[in-house]
Amino acid sequence: MQTNSARSKTIQPATVGAETDAMCGKCKKATRHIILAMVGVKPSRVECKACGAQHAFRSTKGASSRSRAAAAVPTLTPEEAWTQAMRRADGATIRYLTSGHFEVGQRLAHPTFGDGVVVALSSPTVCEVMFNTGTKKLLMGR
Ligand SMILES: [Zn+2]
Repeated sequence: MQTNSARSKTIQPATVGAETDAMCGKCKKATRHIILAMVGVKPSRVECKACGAQHAFRSTKGASSRSRAAAAVPTLTPEEAWTQAMRRADGATIRYLTSGHFEVGQRLAHPTFGDGVVVALSSPTVCEVMFNTGTKKLLMGR
């Protein structure tokens, strides 16, 4: 009572030309892929059977936990961080002057960098201001 299943399609060793489930960035889901290259016992390059894209192998396991972690710690571009800071800061925008004194959360209008928000005070005479190009240290109270 033994069935020879050497040629079974359900149990396939990972090998170049074999099929495997992998995450496809184009399809944005797990699809069947043909293994194009192997590193050790793991596929390294695969071709999506659904859309034909060739890309690095991404396991279907752990893909969701990776994207959850990425969502928990969003990486903002300077412009996105600035947009959020500007939205949080309320009150009037005042013109930046080296003789001025500014508090965290103050909106400033700088002649070169444009509108910004004071995000930190490095010292009594230096404030850190976030502009849409990044954070700059500016003199104040001079
Ligand atoms: Zn695909």
